[in-house]
Amino acid sequence: MSKDLKKNIQEYMAPLITEIGFAPVSRFDNAPEKHHPARICKNAETVIVFGIVVPRGMLHSPDYRLYFLHRTYHSVYMHLDELGLNLCNFIESKGNYMAVPIPTFAPLVYENMMPWGVLSLKHAAVNAGLGAFGRSGLMYHPEHGAMLRLGAVVTSAPLPGDQVIENDPCPKKCRACQEVCPSGAFDANGAFKKEVCLPYSTKHAIYPIALRDEKGLKHLERIINTAGYNYWLTCTECLRICPLNRRSPEKQ
Ligand code: SF4
Ligand code: SF4
Repeated sequence: MSKDLKKNIQEYMAPLITEIGFAPVSRFDNAPEKHHPARICKNAETVIVFGIVVPRGMLHSPDYRLYFLHRTYHSVYMHLDELGLNLCNFIESKGNYMAVPIPTFAPLVYENMMPWGVLSLKHAAVNAGLGAFGRSGLMYHPEHGAMLRLGAVVTSAPLPGDQVIENDPCPKKCRACQEVCPSGAFDANGAFKKEVCLPYSTKHAIYPIALRDEKGLKHLERIINTAGYNYWLTCTECLRICPLNRRSPEKQ
């Protein structure tokens, strides 16, 4: 394992991002077969996950919460995609390695009309020690909560993994995200239902036009990944109410 290359990568990325973590591919045994790192990069050995924090202030803006969320998310997605590309070139310049940048948002892969990331960034982040799953189904970093937007690179370079966080990030009795959800996206056992949340919380001007009939739905993946890219968000409730997305008391 190349400790030196890992250090080089950390130094290269440090001024550009908020957090970075490393996950050996052996930690992805439970990933769906089509979304396993080995299907993404030849001879995959390591998934490198990095994140940039987005400002909490926008969640609490009196009048413009959704406007800021829209602009911030789509700006940071493009930025993280560029950083992923640069990191791949950096890794490939250091030896006979291959590296593949994971899209921060799209292209998405549609299976049974539901969107999936090529690689699940939140599962990759947990495997790379950046955080743990909370009851909302999101990944929570110990300091930044769910305010870390993520990018990743899968590489054939074998790099030492970071320690995984085992602790449940949620306070014992908290169910605030589930109680506040206006769409009923959590079932009676608290399991998150993506198929309920997404139609409620993401909108795009093109969806009602391009996806109104069978002909459009046949090209769902292509439409969402091209014309539907800059979607609008209509719900932030689970993010806004979560205590893990507030600053820790010692930093207030
Ligand atoms: S984004 Fe809104 S609809 Fe989706 S889970 Fe959170 S609170 Fe529910
Ligand atoms: S609102 Fe509460 S239960 Fe939901 S993710 Fe945040 S801390 Fe966990």
